[in-house]
Amino acid sequence: MSYPPDKLLYMRIVVLAGGIGGARFLRGLKQAAPDADITVIGNTGDDIHLFGLKVCPDLDTVMYTLGGGINEEQGWGRTDESFQVKEELAAYGVGPEWFGLGDRDFATHIVRTQMLGAGYPLSAVTEALCARWKPGVRLLPMSDDRVETHVAVDMDGERRAIHFQEYWVKLRASVEAQAIVPVGAEQAKPAPGVLEAIAEADVILFPPSNPVVSVGTILAVPGIREAIAEAGVPVVGLSPIVGDAPVRGMADKVLAAVGVESTASAVATHYGSGLLDGWLVDTVDAGAVAAVEAAGIRCRSVPLMMTDVDATAEMARQALVLAEEVRA
Ligand code: GDP
Ligand code: CA
Repeated sequence: MSYPPDKLLYMRIVVLAGGIGGARFLRGLKQAAPDADITVIGNTGDDIHLFGLKVCPDLDTVMYTLGGGINEEQGWGRTDESFQVKEELAAYGVGPEWFGLGDRDFATHIVRTQMLGAGYPLSAVTEALCARWKPGVRLLPMSDDRVETHVAVDMDGERRAIHFQEYWVKLRASVEAQAIVPVGAEQAKPAPGVLEAIAEADVILFPPSNPVVSVGTILAVPGIREAIAEAGVPVVGLSPIVGDAPVRGMADKVLAAVGVESTASAVATHYGSGLLDGWLVDTVDAGAVAAVEAAGIRCRSVPLMMTDVDATAEMARQALVLAEEVRA
């Protein structure tokens, strides 16, 4: 089947995105469906306060990637970056030294913090930042309320809950995660526009983002999971696990913490057929297709490596083709 069918040229697509995996997928989706109206619901569970500033790593990764300001090799942070502020802070003995905030990036966090301090909600601040970057999608934080992912670990003979960034960036997930807790999620409300975008969507996509600490955190905001399940439109996901390992990063560590194997089929059944209608696995995982279909989720194997924008656009096209198949 060719894509896009004429009637879907102006389709409304909602994407639940984390950082790098979400942002890179979105770049391909924009190429595959240039006339689509794309709303991105971004994860804010990774947000952290540093040096008195509010940092939203996943929102910024999406904004910089789609706006042309991302450090391509790294996948996060600004291109053409310098680290003089960080060096000056270190000279005062002020850390943390393990979180890389560059000089250009600092400006984003200063503007954000200033606006939040003036009383604007995060959704309005994100819109204002995007006025500069023009990402070509509508970028909404999952919530204007503070949600912070914490990871329970056993260290120095006691169980402690540490901020997700401390676990991920400082410890590089080197200790076993005992539990993942999106602190504040239960009381959080979806940001303005989130439930409306889901209700009006023609298709909902889960990019190959982390199923636990990116997509999982968004789904933990009361109302979002229910709205997606009840939207009555195709929900299609792409596996971030290829050949039984994350393509990048340490998703296997947080999957283990929620009792899910690091396989493409286990991630699909973790989301479940109540949420997912379709699932794409990489060609190396073609053997997983039958198990996913047996769980009631339509499944295809296609190349899922986002090596360049064309390859990523083809992945997005395949996701939209699968969406039309399950809709029919
Ligand atoms: P983060 O917030 O920056 O960690 O980014 P996301 O949560 O959006 O995405 C992280 C996930 O992207 C990881 O679990 C990776 O396995 C996945 N990922 C990164 N590159 C690729 C790729 O080329 N193909 C696939 N299928 N997954 C990828
Ligand atoms: Ca993230």
